[in-house]
Amino acid sequence: MEGRRMRLDNARLADGRHVDVMVEGGRIAAIAPHAGGGGGMDLGGRLLLPALVDGHVHLDKTLMGMPWRPNSGAATVRERIENERRYRRGLAHPVPRRAAALLRRMIANGTTALRTHVDIDDDIGLENFHAVRAVAERFRGEVDIQIVAFPQSGILGRPGVAELLDAALAEGADLVGGLDPASYDGDAKAHLDVVFALAGRHGRGIDIHLHDRDAGGNAQLRDIAARAGAAGMAGLVTVSHAFSLGTPDAADFAATADALAAAGVAILTSSPSAGPVPPVQALRARGVAIYAGSDNIRDLWSPFGNGCMLERALLISLRQGFRADDDIALAYGICSDAGARMLGLPGRAVAVGAPADLLAVAAETLAEAVAERPAGRLVFRAGRLLARDGAYLGNN
Ligand SMILES: [Zn+2]
Repeated sequence: MEGRRMRLDNARLADGRHVDVMVEGGRIAAIAPHAGGGGGMDLGGRLLLPALVDGHVHLDKTLMGMPWRPNSGAATVRERIENERRYRRGLAHPVPRRAAALLRRMIANGTTALRTHVDIDDDIGLENFHAVRAVAERFRGEVDIQIVAFPQSGILGRPGVAELLDAALAEGADLVGGLDPASYDGDAKAHLDVVFALAGRHGRGIDIHLHDRDAGGNAQLRDIAARAGAAGMAGLVTVSHAFSLGTPDAADFAATADALAAAGVAILTSSPSAGPVPPVQALRARGVAIYAGSDNIRDLWSPFGNGCMLERALLISLRQGFRADDDIALAYGICSDAGARMLGLPGRAVAVGAPADLLAVAAETLAEAVAERPAGRLVFRAGRLLARDGAYLGNN
């Protein structure tokens, strides 16, 4: 299927040109001025964009596909963890059914690559990991899925969890996660010792949830950067959320951002937090890689989210105070090309040689696409039409 040739006629590019796009071997083979000869799939002047990438999503947690469940409104990370441990086993649908429902929705919205954090703890062991891995296998060819072995309930206070993470990595988990080394696990050094040792032993990347704010959070970021630098892990370590980078302390911010940039540690933002969030422009100006994800989508943590990274680009733009078209285009970029690169995939663009993972929407410009989030979308995976107008057309 990936070897076939096809043509997308009458596409609008972000710079306003109307073109025909030739696809071969899953990649864009040529882009020519629109000739009007027909013969390909007519995009009717839709704006053609690189498809979206969700850098952080919890496929095993989602309640997508189930009736609406009222949220109990737990106030802290610790309360949300306990709430989830209490209720997840009683959920009506098993993980594969809920995860597949979300994946179909994400693909229909334009996402063709993602990184998912899967809970591993002393209660469920590797159950969710195995379930998500099986779902990922089913969707192979439609969406690239990286799996993080994620200790949602911590490591140090949960006997056996380090060994479970080790087992998941041995079974093929792509990365090892971590969780609030200081505030949740109570010993940042010991927590990070375990995480970096596991990554080193298996030759895998790291993606750590860090919710801690202010100087304490930034101290952990600099510790993570120092460890990543010493281990030669540039490009292989992400810190998700990193709310502490939203600090008003300019000197603390600069020192922390410079440490992250020097070590090649990336930041993942899901952005619409009520508190401080990492400032996208300021981080990029200091050389820090930043990309975006949904995080929780309609689960026991959050009632919000719909698997639409175009909407995420809008939320990020609003949260970051973006108004200029170039800034909104940047928000789209961290929801697409930047995420692909951090996932170790080819960069995304509508350009010759780039993967034909594409999204066509009824808009004139990228900024309009983000502002409007048009419902009528065509989603292509390696040149194959995988969704049309919100309907998933894949095999799952
Ligand atoms: Zn998360």
